[in-house]
Amino acid sequence: MAVRMDGNWETQKMSMWQMGLHLVKRLQRAGYVAYFAGGCVRDRLLNQESHDIDIATTATPEEVQRLFPPATGLHGKVFGVVRVPSGDYSFEVATFRRDVGTSDGRHPDCVVFARPEEDAYRRDFTINALFYDPVAEQLIDYVGGRFDLAEKKIRAVGDPHRRFAEDKLRLLRAIRFAANLGFTIEPETWQALRAQATTIHLVSVERIREELDRIWAGPAPAIGLDLLDRSGLLVQLLPELSALHGVEQPKEFHPEGDVFVHTRLLLGQLCNAPLPLAWAALLHDIGKPITQRRDSSGRIRFFEHEVIGARMAHVILTRLRQPNHLIDAVVPMVANHMAFKDAKQMRPATLKRLLARDTFLLELELHRIDCLACHGDLSIYEFLRAKLEELPPADISPPRLLTGHDFLALGVPPGPRIGSLLEAVREAQLNGQVQTREEALSLASRLISSEPTPPSPGFR
Ligand code: ATP
Ligand code: MG
Repeated sequence: MAVRMDGNWETQKMSMWQMGLHLVKRLQRAGYVAYFAGGCVRDRLLNQESHDIDIATTATPEEVQRLFPPATGLHGKVFGVVRVPSGDYSFEVATFRRDVGTSDGRHPDCVVFARPEEDAYRRDFTINALFYDPVAEQLIDYVGGRFDLAEKKIRAVGDPHRRFAEDKLRLLRAIRFAANLGFTIEPETWQALRAQATTIHLVSVERIREELDRIWAGPAPAIGLDLLDRSGLLVQLLPELSALHGVEQPKEFHPEGDVFVHTRLLLGQLCNAPLPLAWAALLHDIGKPITQRRDSSGRIRFFEHEVIGARMAHVILTRLRQPNHLIDAVVPMVANHMAFKDAKQMRPATLKRLLARDTFLLELELHRIDCLACHGDLSIYEFLRAKLEELPPADISPPRLLTGHDFLALGVPPGPRIGSLLEAVREAQLNGQVQTREEALSLASRLISSEPTPPSPGFR
């Protein structure tokens, strides 16, 4: 089916689009059918930016390579896809094809070249199965994708049960598109998705992680959480999060409800958030179910839930094979999130150490949305923002006044005591009790002669 598009597409400056148009023109002039395909067509119709343009054509990979000599077959000529560099961009040019067999529930056993409509039928959702001829300016829609786009619907192409059985990744893609585009999942597609949720483990952990990251760092992570939860995928992928349902909290601090409701409200504050913040928001109270106790007065407590929670966050993120830099940001954010409640009572040194943390700004934002998701009191948040403005960076984290060599020169034998002494001097410096090297050396001498060595100050 071909539909003429109205003209506003050309009014925008689209150099990637124009480059792609140029490639399509050359293919068409050589006698082949060639269209823009899939996600880029969907994105243009939604007036959203695409990060890439895929081209589908009747030309075989060899013919594409002959037409575009710098083309490389790197993307696997066997699968009928050739990467064609053009200007600053690189386009994937794929021969129209259909998939044959899907014995592993994820990949086709093989692909064979086919007609354009068969290529549309092998795509996952109708909104992703559109073609656009940029030369004739025509939309080619074999599956009713333009109606589903207009109605904001995610609908599997063909029989949803079969389509999910062929490739389990589509279960997560459906939810990612629904959450990120603000679409609903059409009832039969939703029913099939729920029926196959337990089979998601056929997808590699890396691809699962990628889809989850795109949901959490997308524009509507709370909607993503709801869909994952209601579909049955959450309990498969992040059972620790499902376990937050029904975990009661003290009503005076948490009028909003149980820990799941609270976590969801945090996510509801996020829109295209940095990934570490999104994961920290999801996992900040993950230790609550395990640590929940009632004290002698019957009050619910979650003693050290942040410590257990940080360990659980480490296990979860490692299980998802998250990169170390993400784990190293999220785990301390979970471990530290309760420290904020004491901010107004902190000694200057403790407060400065809080402000100097690498992840402080993300943690402050986590604290803000944590408060908004329960009592709504932002006074600590405002206090810390003011402190950040008021204290120059050189005051928050001034250069150290002494080094280990100074203590060796003062006759302290090498060993852990030097570390404790250095910390004691640092504490005094951050508290404003010593300001010069001379004052620091004099404090050092007093500390050395007084026994026992003062313990190294903890963070809290
Ligand atoms: P985005 O790039 O935002 O993730 P997209 O729809 O472009 O969205 P790609 O992974 O780039 O996704 O895939 C390009 C096109 O290939 C899709 O629009 C869809 O037509 C098809 N496609 C991708 N993955 C699948 C899949 N698992 N099953 C069926 N078709 C798929
Ligand atoms: Mg894409």
